[in-house]
Amino acid sequence: MTRTTCDICGKLITDNRERWLVSIQSAVGVNVLKYGQKNCELTICDVCQDCADSIYNYVQTLKTTLDKSIEV
Ligand SMILES: [Zn+2]
Repeated sequence: MTRTTCDICGKLITDNRERWLVSIQSAVGVNVLKYGQKNCELTICDVCQDCADSIYNYVQTLKTTLDKSIEV
């Protein structure tokens, strides 16, 4: 049996249905990024349910912040 651990927190993922893939990449490709622009490309293949929840909730928080700034 293959043991899969979360690449973020290291927790053992016992159920494959609780295993997530997280990825972020430039829409135009890394080769055409502006000079000095940080390359945020990131792919994490094995993420546990808890970390996936945290990442999802954090992105939702960012969206909420954006919505509030538009209202003002
Ligand atoms: Zn994790």
